[in-house]
Amino acid sequence: KETEHHRVIVIGTGYGAAVAALRMAEKGIKVLMLEMGMDWPASKEHRTFSKLIFPDKRSTWLKSHSILPFANVFTFKKYTGVLDRIDTDQLKVYVGRGVGGGSLVNGGMAVVPKRAYFESIMPEINAAEMYDKYFPLANRMLKVNSISPRFFETTPYYKFARTARDQAHKAGYKTVFVPNVYDFDYMEKESRKEVYQSALNGEVVYGNNAGKQSLDKTYLAAAMKTKNVEIRPLYSVRSIHSTKTGYKLEVDNINTSGDTVFSQDFSCDFLFVCAGSMGTSELMVKAKATGTLPALNQEVGEGWGNNGNVMAGRNFIKQGTGSKQSCIPTMAIDDWDNKEHPVFAEISPMPMKMETWTSLYLAITKNPNRGKFSYNALTNKVNLKVAENFSTNAIADVKQLMDKLNNENGGTYARLLFKHGINGEICYHPLGGCVIGRATDLYGRFKGYERLYTCDGSLLPGSTGVNPFVTITAIAERNIEKIIAEDFQNY
Ligand code: FAD
Repeated sequence: KETEHHRVIVIGTGYGAAVAALRMAEKGIKVLMLEMGMDWPASKEHRTFSKLIFPDKRSTWLKSHSILPFANVFTFKKYTGVLDRIDTDQLKVYVGRGVGGGSLVNGGMAVVPKRAYFESIMPEINAAEMYDKYFPLANRMLKVNSISPRFFETTPYYKFARTARDQAHKAGYKTVFVPNVYDFDYMEKESRKEVYQSALNGEVVYGNNAGKQSLDKTYLAAAMKTKNVEIRPLYSVRSIHSTKTGYKLEVDNINTSGDTVFSQDFSCDFLFVCAGSMGTSELMVKAKATGTLPALNQEVGEGWGNNGNVMAGRNFIKQGTGSKQSCIPTMAIDDWDNKEHPVFAEISPMPMKMETWTSLYLAITKNPNRGKFSYNALTNKVNLKVAENFSTNAIADVKQLMDKLNNENGGTYARLLFKHGINGEICYHPLGGCVIGRATDLYGRFKGYERLYTCDGSLLPGSTGVNPFVTITAIAERNIEKIIAEDFQNY
């Protein structure tokens, strides 16, 4: 196929990509978005995605078995499904694939970081502007809402969270409600059986067939409405090259088995690489190492972190955690101000449709360790390397919290779920690799190039202290406003 030229190309359709595309399109700028995953349009029959406890091929990206942190007994034909796991020597990193990126698979928790922490990790960004303007804007655009305390206290679907909360309080910890993009009015209707049950009937991580306000319902829907955005699903960008006038991309159009149907070159004047922390870092590290973007600086591929993620499980919770569980988390144990062991631990559901007497937690710690992406010429692959003891201290931080919960309430580590009941290998929050102010300027413009940007999670310095998509969205809003105002004027 001939090279196809576009003024602006955005790689990816996750948070950073969607914000950039919408804001450009609103100004009349035509945008082409290339997404390696599938489009997952909602259907009236609510059959787009598979359920958590009976996943089929739609659940998983090009693997013949399911890939959750535990209980992977399901096998199927390889398919371009919605959840992917990238395994490195030390870590298992989960990412979403499809139009909407991580918003299709994530738990929807929408949390603004504590201001003091945000200021400490990104001191060069004007925090007042972020907290007065861009975080509220991101929350509004993402349709963030909160569970009504009355529903939370009375529904059987949040018994798991109430039990974990009561145990946390008994052990002297504070808990907080966590906002979400799942529509809680819809969830209350689900509980009354007035509408199709999604979160209340085992849907999350492989997609929600209703209720969740993922990017395809918010930013991307608004972007498509402008008629200035075209999205091409199943277009996987292989390489990025600088040219005299802009950029050239080598792209594979793949089928649902992952095979290349055809390859095609694209060119553009403005390129936004928004393939997520893992995808953007991979593309840019490869481009630097193979000389197709030789002027990128040494910071490209550096500063990657897992947002301090650690998972833990506790068994023999004598109050029980309920056979009915909503798949959407709404509460966290907030011990972030603990000087020695700061932890923000979300109370996660384990919706097995039977009483398991188990509490599950996704904890975020201040893990200061960072990894690095590097290119291997022999395999033509980019690998993420972290030290062997990458999560050791983070695990210790979470362990002291779990020990106290167990000591005060009874319960033991859930060793059937994870070795030692606690796991520092699992990463849901990959961040960094092209850190703002280091690989890029303070607005995501890659140093060494013009009209080359990233707007996604690769900009964050390995940590946000809370679930990251609100921060990614708010920073993207801030950056794209500046880029549109300054870079498109005379070009
Ligand atoms: P992404 O959303 O990852 O989007 C990148 C897109 O680029 C993807 O669609 C990908 O397919 C595409 N892409 C990659 N490479 C290429 C290529 N070469 N060519 C074409 N396309 C490409 N965060 C929260 O804040 N709250 C939560 O509750 C939460 N829960 C999570 C639960 C799970 C199971 C997972 C996996 C993540 C969760 N996260 C959560 C994290 C959150 O989803 C991510 O931080 C967020 O999606 C990152 O946004 P992004 O814009 O950086 O990129």
